[in-house]
Amino acid sequence: MTWGTYYFFYECPNCGKKYRYELEGASEESFGLCPDCKVMGTFVGETKDNKQGEDRFVDYEFV
Ligand SMILES: [Zn+2]
Repeated sequence: MTWGTYYFFYECPNCGKKYRYELEGASEESFGLCPDCKVMGTFVGETKDNKQGEDRFVDYEFV
C-alpha cells in the first residue's frame, strides 16, 4: 500500500494552530515547529492514523 506524501500532524500548544509537516523534511531543524510561534508542536498523529476513506486531519495547514 502506498500513502503518497506522508505527513506528521501537530497542534501548537501556544496558539492552537493545527498544521502538518511532510515526513521528507524530518531532518530539518524546524521540523515540528509552529510556523507562527516557532515552538515545538504537540504531535497528534500521522498519515497512517487516517482510516480508509476519511481524513481526520483535513483541516491541518500545510507548512
Ligand atoms: Zn503557534
